[in-house]
Amino acid sequence: MKEQIEKLLTLQGLDLRIADLEGMLESLPGEVEAAAGERLALERELAAKRADIEAETLKRRRLEGDLEGNSEEIAKFSVQLNEVKTNEQYNALLKEIDDRKKKNSAIEEEILLGMDRGEKLEKECDALSVDVKRAAEKEKEERSRVEKELEEVWKDLVKAKEERSVAAAALEPKTLSRYEQIHGRSRTQAVARIDREACEVCYRRIPAQRIIEVKRMKALVSCEGCGRILVWTG
Ligand SMILES: [Zn+2]
Repeated sequence: MKEQIEKLLTLQGLDLRIADLEGMLESLPGEVEAAAGERLALERELAAKRADIEAETLKRRRLEGDLEGNSEEIAKFSVQLNEVKTNEQYNALLKEIDDRKKKNSAIEEEILLGMDRGEKLEKECDALSVDVKRAAEKEKEERSRVEKELEEVWKDLVKAKEERSVAAAALEPKTLSRYEQIHGRSRTQAVARIDREACEVCYRRIPAQRIIEVKRMKALVSCEGCGRILVWTG
């Protein structure tokens, strides 16, 4: 029985390793996703900034159009100044010219502010472009690292499963079926060590007499709390 218990521990070690490896198969692709997500977020931010720049450019063109329109009117009114007959008409034209000039100086101010915003946005875009490039490189590195790791994990998994078949075949059918029953039900370990006079999994205290039985290794002893096969490893 002692030999069987050792083989049970070997089988359990392999099952834990298989579970670990399967967990890695599930979690590793997520590490690439995380890097891809960072890159995408930066790309979106960059696209939004470029759209802002485009909006600033359109706005500036519109303002430049207004500026030109007002200047044309100023020129037209200035010519009319020489043709008017009355003081009222003259003053009215001067008022119109003054109004256009005021408008144009406000527009010029707005154009300058827009150019400042545009320059700031350009700088931010340049910095973001560098960040995007860096994030894309990191993503590429992560992808190749994860691909390599996955390849290793697959190899290890195949090997562990082969070793598991051998370890399972070395057990007496009765012992194996008891192990498989507990393992299949709990999806975790089926063998529990005694730690400080208690089951290491469910912490149920093991009576002294049962500890002696476990130590003797004449028969399989189960934990009364969780049903796992108890072993003494000292
Ligand atoms: Zn237990």
